[in-house]
Amino acid sequence: MKNIVVLGSTGSIGKNTLEVVRNLKDKFRVVGLSSNSRWELLAEQVEEFKPEYVALNDCESVEKLRRRFHKNQLNILTGSNCLKEIVSREEVDVVVSAVVGAVGLPAAIATIEQGKMLALANKESLVMAGHIVMPLARKDQILPVDSEHSAIFQSLHSGKPCEVKRVIITASGGPFYDYPMEKLSDVTPAQALKHPTWQMGQKITIDSATLMNKALEIIEAKWLFDLRIDQIDVVIHPQSIIHSMVEFCDGSVIAQMGMPDMKVPIQYALTYPERSPLMVQSLDLSSVGSLTFKKPDMEKFPALRLGYQAAKEGGTMGATLNAANEVAVQAFLVGKIQFTEIASYVEKVIHNHHFIKNPCLGDILAADTWARQEVKKCLI
Ligand code: NDP
Ligand code: MG
Repeated sequence: MKNIVVLGSTGSIGKNTLEVVRNLKDKFRVVGLSSNSRWELLAEQVEEFKPEYVALNDCESVEKLRRRFHKNQLNILTGSNCLKEIVSREEVDVVVSAVVGAVGLPAAIATIEQGKMLALANKESLVMAGHIVMPLARKDQILPVDSEHSAIFQSLHSGKPCEVKRVIITASGGPFYDYPMEKLSDVTPAQALKHPTWQMGQKITIDSATLMNKALEIIEAKWLFDLRIDQIDVVIHPQSIIHSMVEFCDGSVIAQMGMPDMKVPIQYALTYPERSPLMVQSLDLSSVGSLTFKKPDMEKFPALRLGYQAAKEGGTMGATLNAANEVAVQAFLVGKIQFTEIASYVEKVIHNHHFIKNPCLGDILAADTWARQEVKKCLI
């Protein structure tokens, strides 16, 4: 029996994780849950899973939750360190990091430093500070939840690290892949939030539409699998059936496939190296019909080009790109900027930033703060 904490349990990955855990009751006991402000859903989850701890960011929500549960019944952690505190409880064995954004980084570092398993959905932690996070982790201590990285991780088991030629990350292309380039500036948040194949949180759905999600995933893959940038290719695959591939030195390409359902990579991260039965739709290739592939268009989707640039340059580039993107996506969602301006703001900020090649955590956090302020300044 392993004790598990789910950071971001009220989000899309968080809810899918609890669904997985509900079916693995003999293997996992939920000891901690967390959310930003959705305290009512968090309260329902507390009633079902009966964790000892919750971490809740928003002060007003904390008061509401306090009124609902007696203090002997539930420990409520709050304040800027609450995610780090909850993963640091002694009884915790496994942490699923499913919070969105830079806020996940300190808790990811604490989890690894304390030798606990980290099932990582929060790709932002690696994008910002892969060079700090990865050297702290032992082999297979960080298990990828991101579907592409889970696919690569699974495919890598077909050979040795020195036999890997390259990885091929698939991308659905989002809702606008075939949209005329000149009309992209007019797309609305409602249009951008309609993802063709995956149901996800708002931020990653917008990132999928700009292809910034793929940009972040290139950086995530570089760190997770210790790859050179010329070993990371992206291909557009609108059906999202092949979740990614690995090409080995003998020309064999191993792919991991399945219907798009995040419960599969979540469960694999939790049960690895074993597999457990899971109620998901079976892949019926004859009803899928055809699997198609296209070259990514970096002119139409400049975010992808920026992702390659940040992956190549390293240093503070990833943190700056990520922070600028987080603020720009929020600005787009509230109607302050156009869809195409998201990538323009990010490009401007990474271009102007004071680059540090070997940044410490303090430098990373400072770059994050600076990039957020830069985008905000332009928005006034
Ligand atoms: P959601 O927006 O659905 O959920 C985010 C979770 O984080 C919620 O529980 C939210 O709480 C919490 N949260 C948000 N801001 C804060 C904060 N400042 N402090 C503490 N908690 C916070 O996101 P997703 O589940 O879609 O994505 C989560 C992560 O997983 C992201 O890094 C994403 O890139 C990655 N990922 C997601 C995939 C998906 O299919 N959704 C696929 C692959 C990766 P509240 O509910 O109160 O707002
Ligand atoms: Mg992904």
